[in-house]
Amino acid sequence: MMKQFVDDNGKWLFSGNRDDLQLSRMVAKACESFAEDDEDEQIDDITRSCFNCAYRRWSVDSFHCLAPNCRTDQ
Ligand code: SF4
Repeated sequence: MMKQFVDDNGKWLFSGNRDDLQLSRMVAKACESFAEDDEDEQIDDITRSCFNCAYRRWSVDSFHCLAPNCRTDQ
């Protein structure tokens, strides 16, 4: 997993915050698991962004990535 995520009790937590569009786009560009979420769930104008990904689950300040191949033990 990319260093932009930290282990949060076994789930990957984005180390940026909910305003960090540039980092979210950079991560998604390099991610093989990106899956476009439903249009009404997307918040970034640039499609390929973690903020628009179906594997993103919002937390209070950030989001977790729930992609099956994103494991905290690698
Ligand atoms: S949220 Fe989506 S694009 Fe971002 S790291 Fe996870 S699977 Fe990849």
